[in-house]
Amino acid sequence: MIDITTFEKHALAFELLKRHALIAIIHEVTGIPMKVLRPTYKKMHGRSSKGGRPKESTKGLTRTIKGYQEATLFAVYFKSANTKTDEELVYKVIMAFDIFTSHSQDSQLDFSGAWVIAKEVQKRIVSLIKCPCGAAVLINATEELNDRCLVCKLPHLGSPV
Ligand SMILES: [Zn+2]
Repeated sequence: MIDITTFEKHALAFELLKRHALIAIIHEVTGIPMKVLRPTYKKMHGRSSKGGRPKESTKGLTRTIKGYQEATLFAVYFKSANTKTDEELVYKVIMAFDIFTSHSQDSQLDFSGAWVIAKEVQKRIVSLIKCPCGAAVLINATEELNDRCLVCKLPHLGSPV
């Protein structure tokens, strides 16, 4: 639980609601009760929020090539947001997600997926390496044993970004 003021908490909840984050995540980050968040979501978006929990891991998001590409791209943006500021994780995820969505029209990755990836990048469960061809490769992010570069198809042999 982040040590922030009530005002900041509500402002943050608003930002997360705007980005269609799962209610469970907004509750986890702000501590605001779900029964308060749900009707607010409905008021903002004109429909009920998707229920449920976020994915267990990045692997749940990378079953398709597109999913893997998007996870890698988001991780690149997140990594750069993460090294630049001292802010709390959630603000960096918002920052990176906004950059991601501004560059990727009609992406499958939603805020809740981005949140899962960011947490795993931070815990070093998944990590980014640079392929010799120059492309970023997200490793330990798929069910497959060998992570391969999507650009040159080499198995991961690069150095940490
Ligand atoms: Zn490559």
